[in-house]
Amino acid sequence: MQSKVYILYTGGTFGMKSTDAGLEPSSWDEIISYLPAIKNQTYFHYFSEINFTFDTLEPVVDSSDMTPETWKRIATRIVANYKDHDGFIILHGTDTLAYTSSALSFMLENLSKPVVLTGAQLPIFHPRTDGIVNLSNAIYIAGYKSFRIDCIPEVCICFNDDVLRGNRAVKTSTNDFEGFSSPNFDNLANLEQNIEVRTHLVYSPNTKALKLYTEFSERVVNVTVFPGYNTSVLIELVRSGKLEGIVLKTFGAGNLPTGKQWKTLVEACEEQETIILATTQCPNGQIELGQYASSNVLKSKAVVDGKDITPEAALTKLMWVIGNFDATKRCTMLAQNLRGEIS
Ligand code: ASP
Repeated sequence: MQSKVYILYTGGTFGMKSTDAGLEPSSWDEIISYLPAIKNQTYFHYFSEINFTFDTLEPVVDSSDMTPETWKRIATRIVANYKDHDGFIILHGTDTLAYTSSALSFMLENLSKPVVLTGAQLPIFHPRTDGIVNLSNAIYIAGYKSFRIDCIPEVCICFNDDVLRGNRAVKTSTNDFEGFSSPNFDNLANLEQNIEVRTHLVYSPNTKALKLYTEFSERVVNVTVFPGYNTSVLIELVRSGKLEGIVLKTFGAGNLPTGKQWKTLVEACEEQETIILATTQCPNGQIELGQYASSNVLKSKAVVDGKDITPEAALTKLMWVIGNFDATKRCTMLAQNLRGEIS
């Protein structure tokens, strides 16, 4: 069966070449000459049933340069091409890929088609590149109709034989071809010799119209607690009224050092309506406020229990909820499982 796959190249190691300044992105025209199965579909018949649309988000960047504005441009391209395509692939640098996949998962409500992010640890120009496998796997997921496999109508990451939910994934290696993992949620699919889609974990295609939410608050901070942390600078910032949200990375299941300073911080957040999204520094497991006495200070209307959310999903969800919704709804929405990001 024919399917239409839209591929948006945004940069990243996948398409990078060595320059005097280090690795830098190159053009799609150069890249595609290293992808014979895609470039010459009649000769290499593997993708003969796929109609590709290739697009580039200029300027192509190292993903360190991604911003909420770029997320908006990516999401807008997906929406503009949504009706005419069956699946979408975003080629992206790995460094901030999990932020973009988390952000897109919140921006695109009611998805009924796959949006697959992928990239590479070694450039496509390298003889040992993982880019060809990663992109080919992504094409199978996005072009599912042609390969008669189950649809994954979610924002997901396809990397080294794994398909991970986009807002459950973290980059866990700078070197390993298995660059991403999903610490608290099983893979949506595994691409070995056979492709196994775990349909019981995958969202059902949504029948409602796709909805796009593009705004993100930039008045948020990520704060990692450490032994001896002094909250005074953070309290000053909250009292200045400039801060709308804090992702607070606590010890273990939500624990903080004892002492008045944390109570003062929470009270300042209550006064200023600054939201604290409480998360754990541990890659596995979740927040359990009240399990230890040292987490009781977080029992406040200013604090939302982030459960088992990843750091990337926590930050993007907080920015997105503040950016798009009224203050009265924000804490309720943050506590809810909106796109499969928390258990
Ligand atoms: N620095 C690169 C980037 O994120 C790393 C990569 O793509 O693997 O664009």
